[in-house]
Amino acid sequence: KVEQKNDFIRNIIRDDVKAQKYKQIVTRFPPEPNGYLHLGHVKSICLNFGIAQEFDGICNLRYDDTNPTAEKQDYIDNIKKDVRWLGFEWAGEALYASSYFDQLYAWAVQLIEQGDAYVDLQTLEQIRDNRGSFTEVGKPSPQRDASVADNLKLFDDMKNGKFADGKAVLRAKIDMGDANMNMRDPIIYRVMHQAHHQTGDKWCIYPMYDFAHPLSDAHEGITHSICTLEFEDHRPFYDWIVNKIGFEQPPHQYEFSRLNVDHTLTSKRKLKQLVDENIVSGWDDPRMPTIAGMRRRGYTPEGLRDFCDRVGVTKADGVIDMRLLEFSIRQSLDDTTARGMAVLKPLKVTITNFDEAVKDWESLKAEGVNARWDEELQTLWLTQPNHPNVDMGEREIPFTKDLYIDQGDYEIEPPAGYKRLSPEKNEIRLRNTYVLAVTEHVLDDAGKVIELKATIDPTTLGQNPEGRKVKGVIHWVSASQGIPATVRLYEQLFSVEDPSSVSDVHEALNPNSLTELAAVVEPSLVNAPAGTRFQFEREGYFISDEQQHSTKQPVFNQIVSLRDSYKP
Ligand code: ATP
Ligand code: MG
Ligand code: MG
Repeated sequence: KVEQKNDFIRNIIRDDVKAQKYKQIVTRFPPEPNGYLHLGHVKSICLNFGIAQEFDGICNLRYDDTNPTAEKQDYIDNIKKDVRWLGFEWAGEALYASSYFDQLYAWAVQLIEQGDAYVDLQTLEQIRDNRGSFTEVGKPSPQRDASVADNLKLFDDMKNGKFADGKAVLRAKIDMGDANMNMRDPIIYRVMHQAHHQTGDKWCIYPMYDFAHPLSDAHEGITHSICTLEFEDHRPFYDWIVNKIGFEQPPHQYEFSRLNVDHTLTSKRKLKQLVDENIVSGWDDPRMPTIAGMRRRGYTPEGLRDFCDRVGVTKADGVIDMRLLEFSIRQSLDDTTARGMAVLKPLKVTITNFDEAVKDWESLKAEGVNARWDEELQTLWLTQPNHPNVDMGEREIPFTKDLYIDQGDYEIEPPAGYKRLSPEKNEIRLRNTYVLAVTEHVLDDAGKVIELKATIDPTTLGQNPEGRKVKGVIHWVSASQGIPATVRLYEQLFSVEDPSSVSDVHEALNPNSLTELAAVVEPSLVNAPAGTRFQFEREGYFISDEQQHSTKQPVFNQIVSLRDSYKP
């Protein structure tokens, strides 16, 4: 039994269930297949599929495919993949508004017969001009009072291809003076000589969204049709049309506020521009707020669902802090990802006393150190757990004479409060192994540190040194056994808080959204299959890229940083 959540829509549904208003709660998720799903859709998916789970109902996946120009099979396929990846399954087969075209046509004919629709031969421009304004009632079309017989004939002509695009439309006959502009005889069918990805060349007229959507809902027996607030003033037409057609138990539309997140675009059209102009590498570029992009970035379905729960469902418009999403993702990773060491900006360290020092490791074995000496590779293999939770297994880490540490862990002139290595503070613990003391730094001509020489204290493998306290732990990777890897760090794709407010998307882009580093990682990180998530100790969460990673050429994407001061 799935626990019921609380929000105003679920409260309505709870009341409906109590009143036994419906045999079963039926919702739907109705994407138009004109792009990839994005973060905004995640909210709608979690809401519609979540309600079905919580109230023992069903949720349909219905493609709202009434506008063939922008729609593609690739989008259809990816939408299914994305919904499933988020952890949801629709009832039965995926549905298509286009499979109802015959039925929708019949309903349009019914409206004409009832005197509730007419064919208008005005140009689209005239129709727009004659709609009036908030202060001015609309001007009726010359065709508004044509006979039912004439309208039936003209609509038949529309269907049979006797009109070119834009030369005729079918309009609902409501009220040209209605305060709600959507009720001033809205267009419900238009001529469009365009093949459709599902129905081929069968139709040259296509229903408008406002007509097809409520009737598809009603046809499928949807009980609660949940959409975003911008459709609030379409609701009168929604109710008008389902009542005119005469459904016994018509669906009801409920609106909630759409999800907006700072520094993010949630509009397929604008995201498509980024893809079309190669500003990103594709719909699944890890910087994209698409489900495909977030999946490749390493975001988890659990984290995304948790984020939606925290955002909640209201009618209040607002912008959600991106850090809340990162918080949810981070939380979902902590207990489940194996840890490992990766040096993102390598600085070479030579351990000058390595040969003598590691000879002693055998003596430490008795004291519980789990390691093995590999004579051929001159490598001490240290066995360490993958995670504080020992159920997650262990791996061998190679320790060798030459290592890499991160450039940021040694500063000639350290800032105040610096806890890592410097000429003054030369001792530190190397994570999982010995205490290291820097004896010398080597500079290049520009005065940059290019190498450290150091010694290790042979008595400190897995133990504290005697007589002194060594503060600080840093990560490292063997130079000879470590593996070069491309590591991609990300910042927001957009540098402005509300990229949708900028008319030229190029001006909103963050030039630093992607940084590629030549890193070195411990072997255990590269052997797992592509798409495996890790915590790189002290650096953050990373995923091996599902498309480009291989054991030979490892590629990791940064998921999120390790921590943030942000608290939800
Ligand atoms: P876009 O403008 O990106 O094309 P859309 O609303 O036109 O978005 P649809 O494919 O029609 O995209 O959306 C399917 C469902 O997802 C709709 O019910 C829609 O209301 C919902 N949805 C889309 N964007 C958001 C969002 N930002 N927040 C919440 N729900 C959304
Ligand atoms: Mg839409
Ligand atoms: Mg849209």
